[in-house]
Amino acid sequence: MQYDHILIRYGEMALKGKNIKKFIVKLQENIQHKIKDFPEAKVKRTQGRMFVLLGGHDPEPIIEKCKHIFGIQSLSLAIKVDNELEAIKDAALYALENSEDTRKFKVTVKRINKDFPVRSQDMNQILGGHLLSNTNNITVDVHNPDLEIKVEIRLEATYITSSVIPGLGGLPVGTSGKSLLLLSGGIDSPVAGYLAMKRGVQIEAIHFHSPPFTSDRAKQKVLDLAKQLTGYGKSVKIHIVPFTKLQQEIFREMPDGYAMTIMRRMMMRISEKVCRNESILSMTTGENLGQVASQTMESMNTINEVTNYPIIRPLITMDKTEIIKISQEIGTYETSILPYEDCCTIFVPKSPKTKPKREKVNVYESKKDFTDLIEDAVAGIEVVKVTDQKDLDSVFEDLL
Ligand code: ATP
Ligand code: MG
Repeated sequence: MQYDHILIRYGEMALKGKNIKKFIVKLQENIQHKIKDFPEAKVKRTQGRMFVLLGGHDPEPIIEKCKHIFGIQSLSLAIKVDNELEAIKDAALYALENSEDTRKFKVTVKRINKDFPVRSQDMNQILGGHLLSNTNNITVDVHNPDLEIKVEIRLEATYITSSVIPGLGGLPVGTSGKSLLLLSGGIDSPVAGYLAMKRGVQIEAIHFHSPPFTSDRAKQKVLDLAKQLTGYGKSVKIHIVPFTKLQQEIFREMPDGYAMTIMRRMMMRISEKVCRNESILSMTTGENLGQVASQTMESMNTINEVTNYPIIRPLITMDKTEIIKISQEIGTYETSILPYEDCCTIFVPKSPKTKPKREKVNVYESKKDFTDLIEDAVAGIEVVKVTDQKDLDSVFEDLL
């Protein structure tokens, strides 16, 4: 006997009314995609349930993959047996013997198939007794068990599950549309991308690059961060914008105190153009209220003036320590702290205005026509697609 299924629970999605079908199908696709290196493993749905059929594969690496998929609330290893008492007893014992902490256990039987001749309460007794008489040093504790063995007698078969492994929660990536992530090499923006993905958003990224002031290694760092984000989704398309000329012009022509604000406004204008070209309906940034001069209320108000696209700012109210904790958990922190220069750290005005005014910026910007520089930057965009695995799209399409 061995575990042959993983039961997938998708909690929150159950609340989504008529969207539910779309969410479940997407989750199924996303799981199938992530486990494509295990050719015999298949994701199946039955009423209200999703299972990975292991097809003889070792469950551990597949569970690891599932722990990185948004939309999964929790998962459990499961054994499927025929609706026969002896088979169910054997499977329950196997589940107990293959669990880690088993000193206090409880059996919970749910009999959905009313044709099965033994009632749930009687099954609890029978299975509990069977487990006690075949093991040592364990007791039943219905109130505070270390382990709950769940037995679900369904029409087609009986499923026996034991430990509950927490999933990431959230919604399946791809169910909430696309957003353009302004991805710098810092700590914050990858975390912002991750949190947007957690709400089902598919991410494309844009990065402003200022060679030769910013190096190839700085660019590579951003590609590495994007690659790390693909671990929670599929591929990420990155638009790398040549920003040097525009930045130099801003710093040459605009008042020092306003240069940073104007640079940010240019980033927004260019990002919006990319959104339009790619049919993306929002942007996502790693902005965090009060963190630096460009992230005061006044500054956000002035920067935001140039676009009416929605801007998702998942980190806006977080403490830096919370952000760092997430970046460590999701594995981007070590890359983010590599010391390569960023376009915003190279061009730093001596005393940036912390309360830039819309009216003043508009006056300054009206003194110089930046249109061509913006157009050139957009025309010079290099697009790189990073994938979570090699050849992933073609394999994925085969499955549809
Ligand atoms: P991060 O840690 O994400 O770099 P930060 O704390 O350094 O953020 P800022 O430098 O003020 O904050 O940047 C605010 C946001 O602007 C970033 O989170 C990111 O979304 C965007 N941004 C900044 N620089 C770039 C860049 N070179 N390319 C793309 N987006 C950028
Ligand atoms: Mg930064």
